[in-house]
Amino acid sequence: MFTRIGTAALRSCFRQSFSRKFASTENLLVDLYRKEGALDTVTVSLALNDLRDGGIRKTDKRLLPLLERLVHAQENENGQMSAEEFEKLLNCTNLELAYKAFQKQLIIPDFQGFRAEVTDIFEGVRENREGNIATYIPDLAKVDPDLWAAAICSVDGQRLALGDSAKRFSVQSAGKCLNYAIALDSVSSDVVHKYIGLEQSGKEFNAITLNEEGRPHNPMINSGSLVLCSLLERGRSVSDKLDFVRSQYERLCGGESVGTNSSTYSSEKETGHRNYAIGHLLQDSGAFPADGPPLGEILDFYFHLCSIEITADTGAVIAATLANGGICPTTGEKVLSALAVRNTLSLMFSCGLYDYSGQWAFAVGLPAKSGVSGCILVVVPNKMGLCLMSPRLEEHGNSVRGIDFAKRLADKYNLHQFDLSGKDYKREIEEEAN
Ligand code: GLU
Repeated sequence: MFTRIGTAALRSCFRQSFSRKFASTENLLVDLYRKEGALDTVTVSLALNDLRDGGIRKTDKRLLPLLERLVHAQENENGQMSAEEFEKLLNCTNLELAYKAFQKQLIIPDFQGFRAEVTDIFEGVRENREGNIATYIPDLAKVDPDLWAAAICSVDGQRLALGDSAKRFSVQSAGKCLNYAIALDSVSSDVVHKYIGLEQSGKEFNAITLNEEGRPHNPMINSGSLVLCSLLERGRSVSDKLDFVRSQYERLCGGESVGTNSSTYSSEKETGHRNYAIGHLLQDSGAFPADGPPLGEILDFYFHLCSIEITADTGAVIAATLANGGICPTTGEKVLSALAVRNTLSLMFSCGLYDYSGQWAFAVGLPAKSGVSGCILVVVPNKMGLCLMSPRLEEHGNSVRGIDFAKRLADKYNLHQFDLSGKDYKREIEEEAN
């Protein structure tokens, strides 16, 4: 299902053999769409259908001038364009991407087949109505429990969005992995890990407890995230810090605007007694930097970060940026260093799903981070990112449908990081059982 050689390898061998001096690349693409019996004309709908089937959206910024012109010809010029104009358009576009998209050489070459299979999994998982929504934050208790969204973005920017994927929701703890990655680059790993540990806590995400050194166990739980809030953008106001983090999220998701939900924020602030308690424990243990901001500001910043809103569709791009070593697939912008991403993925793998992290690593084998709004960001390194959102949670605070979907997807495509490619594990497990 995925191109056999990894994207990085594909890119480097492609670069060696590819250069604009081969004018024949454009000719080759023009030839694909020449109209039968009118060779100086191309059939625009065929080109647009190929891009759509390959998972490239009509709004893809990387190919925008080409796409806009093709759509215009489709809608206003009988779907025809002169071969000469098509060639000129190709000449001024991201030709490497256009070539790979038209020739079905993106990381998921048979995207149509992939879309059909993933849609089947999605609809199968819809039947799963187990679990309960989080009610301890009053604003989350108002959400429709039946919401269900799954979105995927490949490292080549191929997009798939199913169900309620345009519905906004607060990111909650799913954002903790992003705040951590941002801090690694802006504060440094040394400083961050002077104050925050690297181990699973073995306790619930909001436990009022610290490790033996009096520090948070890791940055993926509330205590760790609170300490992170004391380190990020020190010396600036809460609103400046929030603007900074939101602008980083916007870069991670390819330039979509990212806001916060004020009613979620107020709800958290009014009822977040556990977080106040954790904050006081941290303060009492000397776990914050001595010259850090006052506790009230740290908590305020934390509540704002939890109430940042994304959609599953944009969340998938964020996860894909992590899958792509920190380079956003839909813009090509380098947002995070590869090292920050590697460190983040390591902790997502070991600590990303609360006290279910070990079972998740065992069964799914992919770095991920969940939040109590029902969101799970899942990273398939070098292949794609996923955002799953369904508010009914299992006992540890993870989306039931999200886990169900991720397990089925990982099994189907051997996505577990320790899978041997091509091996039929299901058969082996069945044979063992008989
Ligand atoms: N705002 C939530 C809290 O601090 C985040 C919890 C979560 O998603 O794990 O309790």
